[in-house]
Amino acid sequence: MSDHLMTTYARLPVTFEKGAGAILQDTNGKSYLDAVSGIAVCSLGHAHPAVAEAICEQSHQLIHTSNLYNVANQQKLSDRLTELSGMDRAFFCNSGAEANETALKIAKKFGHQKGIDNPAVIVMENSFHGRTMATLSATGNAKVHEGFTPLVEGFVRVPYDNVEAVKQHSDNANIVAILVEPVQGEGGVHVPKAGYLTELKAICEQNDWLLMLDEIQTGIGRTGKWFAFQHESVTPDVLTLAKALGNGVPIGCCLAKGKAADVLVPGNHGTTFGGNPLACAAGLAVLNIMEMHNYIPHVAKKGQTLLERFREELKDQSSVIEIRGKGYMIGIQLDRPCGELVTKALENGLLINVTRGDTVRLLPPFVMDTEQKEQLITQLTQLIREFLAT
Ligand SMILES: *Cc1c(COP(=O)(O)O)cnc(C)c1O
Repeated sequence: MSDHLMTTYARLPVTFEKGAGAILQDTNGKSYLDAVSGIAVCSLGHAHPAVAEAICEQSHQLIHTSNLYNVANQQKLSDRLTELSGMDRAFFCNSGAEANETALKIAKKFGHQKGIDNPAVIVMENSFHGRTMATLSATGNAKVHEGFTPLVEGFVRVPYDNVEAVKQHSDNANIVAILVEPVQGEGGVHVPKAGYLTELKAICEQNDWLLMLDEIQTGIGRTGKWFAFQHESVTPDVLTLAKALGNGVPIGCCLAKGKAADVLVPGNHGTTFGGNPLACAAGLAVLNIMEMHNYIPHVAKKGQTLLERFREELKDQSSVIEIRGKGYMIGIQLDRPCGELVTKALENGLLINVTRGDTVRLLPPFVMDTEQKEQLITQLTQLIREFLAT
């Protein structure tokens, strides 16, 4: 293995060469069933032919021109995303962290427009918003902060899924927005009580704050709706997307509505690569395929079945604390650290993820077929039983 890469990752000892659907193949020809999807990115599976075709075709026409000019694919993708989400305007970038940076800049400027000199954003404990300085500062995880102080200022932290804790800040005149994940992903797949977002939106309206939803992981069908906020009758003021939007081609997007939509004006924000013809072609292909195959209701229904099957199979295991999730986003929390399950599964040709140390996280591709899902349930529940028995 190359020693010329920075030591940022504790990588698993495997290199993949190709893939198709929910299957990856390593350089030794061994096959793996993928229940991680490159961390909720390849929702349509690996090497999707229609995505490959779209990228190929676009690359023969034009890859990049910069945002000095109009970009037709960018406009088309903004039309589609605003229509699907009910938002007004889109800004395209290249990653989730960049999408959240955009949201945070909107919040700060929105505050300054109101004459607030030190605007602050309410963020949650246990949250994850990215690795840039502002987004790591927004992230509710001490390990992510360690070694990187001084952090970016202007964040007020409250417990997740706790409306009262937010209300207590109603008299803080510096607050301009709430940034929250509709389901916490990296934080261990935490699904808040029904009505949480609706109540947050009401507080935002009362106080003239922006409700900013980080749907970088939950968006584009992952929870069984196009966007997780659509499980409730609420529309955010700001919405961030990335991961699944390009099925692996890097693309991020910050959408905004109403008073948040026109905050950023020429000179305030920008990116060289963001929204280039290639990335947007991938985004358009993803939305088309999702619609054509009607994957989203499928994810809602089959995700619930998957959740129930895991609960049933593991109900005799007293060391399984909770099995929770929404759509194809599932967390199985154990009463002990279980990182070694990832290696055990890998040896068995199964790709899973463990987050927060004790929670198995599953983010299967939407194209995983019934037989593969049965294999996932059988293999994983057996691995968990064996692990808990030792
Ligand atoms: C992955 C993720 C991010 C960061 O996205 P990057 O593309 O890695 O910068 C931010 N928020 C949430 C909820 C995520 O899951």
